[in-house]
Amino acid sequence: MTPPDIRPNEIVVQLTPPDDAQLRFIGRVRTPWRDRSQCPRQGSVEGPECRLCLDPVWAPALAGLEAYARIEVLYWLDQSRRDLVTQSPRLDGVTTGTFSLRSPVRPNPIGTALVQLVRIDGCEVVVRGLDCLDGTPLLDIKPDRCAYSPRALAKPGAEEPPTGHS
Ligand code: SAM
Repeated sequence: MTPPDIRPNEIVVQLTPPDDAQLRFIGRVRTPWRDRSQCPRQGSVEGPECRLCLDPVWAPALAGLEAYARIEVLYWLDQSRRDLVTQSPRLDGVTTGTFSLRSPVRPNPIGTALVQLVRIDGCEVVVRGLDCLDGTPLLDIKPDRCAYSPRALAKPGAEEPPTGHS
């Protein structure tokens, strides 16, 4: 029998036990959104300030990040189901394969966002452009990249980010 939360044409698969990638959450994301219905589908730089609250052990890992105007944030969409191979999004109902959607429902529910770096307060990074629930586990932070070089846009007035780093 089809579970009640499955939409027409969605396919649920029986999953084998997960491989153990030994992911480590480096902190939590603090956002204004407690409920998925309030959460934007994709973040916007017009959106509210959100905070990447790192475990203090990672504070030295932020050195140099302030030179970047845009950073990439990876987070774990922990409240998602992980067993759908096709999905019929509520918005248009058109059934599509999971890998051609940016839906949070995926085998490994990693969310990514390119966000605007506002400031760094100790082991908290304040950004605009997120779209996740308050308390979402944080996986990683990286500087923005461009097509052919690891060099990314510097914030106005900031020193150019170092070259040759990847
Ligand atoms: N920007 C990311 C990406 O493209 O990889 C995520 C996009 S996903 C469409 C954003 C949606 O995921 C939100 O609108 C919300 O419905 C849902 N979401 C946010 N935080 C979540 C969480 N912690 N667990 C499960 N779903 C979440």
